[in-house]
Amino acid sequence: MPENVIIIGSGPAAWTAAIYAARANLNPLVFQGNPYDDKNRVNGTLPLGQLALTTEVENFPSWPAGDTRQYLKTALKEDDPDFPYWVSANKPQPTHGINGPELMALMRQQAVNFGTRVESKDVVKVDLKKRPFTITTHDSKSVQSRTLILATGARANYLGLPSEDKYKNRGVSACAVCDGFADRFRNKPIVVVGGGDSAVEEAAYLAKFGSKIHLFVRRDTLRASKIMADRAKANPKIDFRWHTEVDEVLGNDKDGVTAIRAKNNKTGEKYDLPASGLFLAIGHTPNVGFLEGQVELTESGYIKWTTLGRTYTSVEGVFAAGDVADSYYRQAITAAGTGCMAALDAERWLAEHGE
Ligand code: NAP
Repeated sequence: MPENVIIIGSGPAAWTAAIYAARANLNPLVFQGNPYDDKNRVNGTLPLGQLALTTEVENFPSWPAGDTRQYLKTALKEDDPDFPYWVSANKPQPTHGINGPELMALMRQQAVNFGTRVESKDVVKVDLKKRPFTITTHDSKSVQSRTLILATGARANYLGLPSEDKYKNRGVSACAVCDGFADRFRNKPIVVVGGGDSAVEEAAYLAKFGSKIHLFVRRDTLRASKIMADRAKANPKIDFRWHTEVDEVLGNDKDGVTAIRAKNNKTGEKYDLPASGLFLAIGHTPNVGFLEGQVELTESGYIKWTTLGRTYTSVEGVFAAGDVADSYYRQAITAAGTGCMAALDAERWLAEHGE
C-alpha cells in the first residue's frame, strides 16, 4: 500500500506539515535526513534543519524572550475578561524564551505526538513521473506515496576557493553555533564573511569565544536588519571591514587555518590577517539535487510554486513548503505557515482525487 503523504525535510515547514497531516488522519511519514552522514554535518543539512544551528529565536510568535513564567504573570492579568484561562502561568515554564534547537525539537515532538512516523534517512532519488510516486533513500530502500511534500530547506553557501575547501572542518565553517566552541578559536581572532542577519548573528556569537571578530563585508553597507546590525556595531569585539573579500585562506597541515589573505575590492590592496578560523554567512542554496529536474525551479534554483496562494508545484500531487521554495521571506514562521498550507493542499488533493 502506498503512503498517503511523505514529507521530506526536518525544519519548521516539514514538522508543521506533519502536525496538520497527522491530525487529518493521513498518517504521514517524514524523512528527516541522516544524522550520521558527514556531508550533512559539513553542509548543515542534519535533522532539525537550519534552526538547529542557531541560538536564541526572538521572532517566532508565542516565545517572548525573558522569563516566560514572569511574562505570563504580567502579560495575562488574572482579572482580564478576555483571558479567563491564564492558570497556565502557575505551572512550571521555561525560564527563557526559546532557542533554535529547542523550538525544532518541540515541533518534531508535537508531530510525533499526533502519530507522525519519522525515519532518519536521506532521500537520494524520487520518481515523480508516475503515481504513486517512488521515493528512494540512502540505504537503497524505496517507498511509494500518493502525495509528496518537499520541505528540504536550503543549505549554507561557501565562497568556492580551493584553499577554503582544503581547510573545511579545520578552521573553515559555515556554522558558528556548531563549531564556534572549539578550542582552536578560544581567545584568537576569527574572520566572518557576509553582511546579512546571519553574518552579524554569527559574529556576535563568535565574539563570546574569539579575541576579535573581523567581519568582511563586500559592500559599504549591511543587508542585516537594523536591530541586529546595531547590536553588532555596539559590540567592541566586532571589527567591520568594508569592501573586503577573502582572497585566500592561509594555513598548514598541523594548525589548519592560521590567517586570511584579505582583499579590498575598491583599492585592490591585499594583506594577511592572523585568524584561527573563517566562518561563511553568505546566503543559502536550496536542497533540490535529489529531484533531478523533475520539478520546475525558479531562475535562482528554488522550487517554483505554480499557483498563486497555493503550495502546488509543476507536478500534480507534489507540494513544496519552506525555504526550498522561498528565496524571499525565509523565516521560521513563514516556513511553518507554508508547511501548514502544503498539508492542507495535500489533504484536499487526496480527497478530490479519491486516492
Ligand atoms: P542574506 O540576507 O541573503 O545575506 C547574505 C549576505 O552575504 C549579503 O550581505 C551578501 O552581500 C553576502 N554575500 C553573498 N555572497 C557573497 C560572496 N560571494 N562574498 C561575500 N559576501 C557575499 O542571507 P542571511 O544573512 O543568511 O539571511 C537569510 C534570511 O534569514 C534573511 O531573511 C534573514 O533576515 C534571515 N535570518 C534571520 C535571523 C534572525 O532574525 N535571528 C538570523 C539569520 C538569518 P550583499 O549584501 O552585497 O548581497
